[in-house]
Amino acid sequence: MQFQTRLFIGGEFVDAVDRGRIEVLNPHDNSRLVEVAEARAADIDRAVAAASKAFPAWRATASADRGRLLLKLADAIEAQAAELAEIETLDTGHPIRDTRGLDVPRTAATFRYFGGMADKFQGSVVPVEHGFLNYVTHEPLGVVGQIVPWNFPLMFTSWKMAPALAAGNCAILKPAELTPLTSLKIAEIVRQVGFPRGVVNVVPGYGAIAGQYLAEHPQVAKIAFTGSTATGRKIVQASSGNLKRVQLELGGKGANIVFDDANIPTAIAGSAFAVFHNQGQACIAGSRLLLQEKIADHFLEGFLKLASSIRIGNPLDPATEMGPLTSTMHRDRVLDYCRIAKEQGAAILLGGKASSDLTLARGCYVMPTVVRARPTDRVCQEEVFGPFVSVTTFKDEEEVIEIANDTVYGLGGGLWTTNLQRAHRVANRMISGMVWVNCYKRANPGSPFGGLRNSGYGRDMGFEAMHEYTTPKSVWVNVEATIPPFYQR
Ligand code: NAD
Repeated sequence: MQFQTRLFIGGEFVDAVDRGRIEVLNPHDNSRLVEVAEARAADIDRAVAAASKAFPAWRATASADRGRLLLKLADAIEAQAAELAEIETLDTGHPIRDTRGLDVPRTAATFRYFGGMADKFQGSVVPVEHGFLNYVTHEPLGVVGQIVPWNFPLMFTSWKMAPALAAGNCAILKPAELTPLTSLKIAEIVRQVGFPRGVVNVVPGYGAIAGQYLAEHPQVAKIAFTGSTATGRKIVQASSGNLKRVQLELGGKGANIVFDDANIPTAIAGSAFAVFHNQGQACIAGSRLLLQEKIADHFLEGFLKLASSIRIGNPLDPATEMGPLTSTMHRDRVLDYCRIAKEQGAAILLGGKASSDLTLARGCYVMPTVVRARPTDRVCQEEVFGPFVSVTTFKDEEEVIEIANDTVYGLGGGLWTTNLQRAHRVANRMISGMVWVNCYKRANPGSPFGGLRNSGYGRDMGFEAMHEYTTPKSVWVNVEATIPPFYQR
C-alpha cells in the first residue's frame, strides 16, 4: 500500500520546513505503517499564504464551477473507494466492512451534496421601503482552518471541507496526528481532479503545536473544530486574537432510551449499533442505555447475548465486526474507565477488559463492555469513547427525561417506542442537537449535525453548514436616485 506522507500546501506535496516526522501506527498490532511530515508554525504560515493567495480567484469562480469540481471529487473518491477504505482501516482500526460500506460512501455523498449545493445556496431580496433595493448575499469568509479528530478522519474531512469549498472559502485541514493518511489521500485526489492550487491544504501535525498555531493565526477567518470539549475550550481562547469565527463539534454522552412498548428485537440490534459501531469511538454513541423497568431483564438478556457474539478481530478481515481502538493510549483510557466503574460500585455485566485473544495481544482491542451503573456514576457522566455502555433502569417518562438530560452534554440521543405521541413528546423534551426515534446514529449530508451545551455550537451538514461558512452581506441601493431627506438644501 502506497501512502501520501508529505504536507499538501499550495497544490504540491512538500516536506515540512523543520523536517519533523510523525510515526503512524496500525492499531491492529501497533506496527509502524509509515512516517508522515509534521507541520509546525512555519508550515502553517506557508499554508495560510497559499490559501490567502488562492482565495480571490476561488471566491470569484462561478459557484457552478466550484460545484462541478466537488462533484468530480466525489466521483473520483468512488473510483478509488477500495484504496481509501483500506487506508482508513489500516490507520484507524475500523473494520473494513464499515469503511467500505459507510465511511467511504458517506464521504463521497457529502462532497456530492455540497457540489450540488454550491449554485443553489442563494441570497435574498428584502422587501424594504419604496425607492430602495436591499439584497443579501452570502459571502465566503476567506481562509478557514479545520481541525479534526481520529475517530472518523476520512468522513470528517468531507464534512469540513465540502461546505467550506462550496461556499467559496479556501481550506487548511489539520488531521489528527494519529490518523493523517486518508486526508492526505483526499489531497492527492483533490490535485488529480484539478482544484486550483492553494484552495485545499492538508497539514498533519500535533494539536498543541500545529493546531494551536492555526487556531491563533491572525489571517485565518474561522476555525471549524471536531474533537474533545477540553480542546474546544482552548480553541475558543486561541481564536480571541482576531475574533475569528469558531464552530465546535465536541463530546457527547448519548442517552438511548428503551420504553416498555418498544419492539424489543429491533431495539436490541439498534442499541448495539448505537454503542459498539466503530468500537464506540463516536461522539454520538448511545453510551447510556436507559431501560424501562418492566422490560429491563428481558432486553438485557438479548442485548448481552448479541454483544457477546460480536466478531472481534483483524479489521482487514471482512467478517470482523469490531476492530481495535485507534491507539494504545486510548485503549488504556477506556480500560481505566472499567476500573473506575468497579470502584464506584457498578456491576460489570460483560467485558471490562482487553481482549484475551492472544493473536490480538499487541493491538488496541477492548471487549464489548456492559456495566450496570447509577446515573451519577462517573461512567454515566463522562465520555468513555469506547465499546462501553452503562445500563440504568427507570420507572416512567418523567424520570427518564430527567436522567437523559442530566449531563453536561447535548449532542445526540435516541428512544425506542411504538407509541407515536410518546415518541414526539420525549424527542421534544430531550436537550440534544439530534434525536433518533426507533433508530440511532442516522446522518445525512442534508441534515444538520451538531449539539449544544458542552457538545459545542454550530452545525456541520445541510444548509446550516453553508451558513457556518459564509457571512451575510446586506447591500442597499437607492434605485430612484432621490436625495435622502436629511440635509436637503
Ligand atoms: P482532541 O480534542 O484531543 O483532538 C482533536 C483534534 O484537535 C486533533 O486534530 C488534535 O491534534 C487537535 N488538537 C489537540 N489539542 C489542540 C490544541 N490545543 N489546539 C488546536 N488543536 C488541538 O480529541 P480526540 O481525542 O482526538 O477526539 C475525540 C473527541 O472528539 C471526543 O471527545 C469526541 O466526542 C469528539 N468528537 C466530537 C464529534 C462531534 O461531531 N461532536 C465527532 C467526533 C468526535
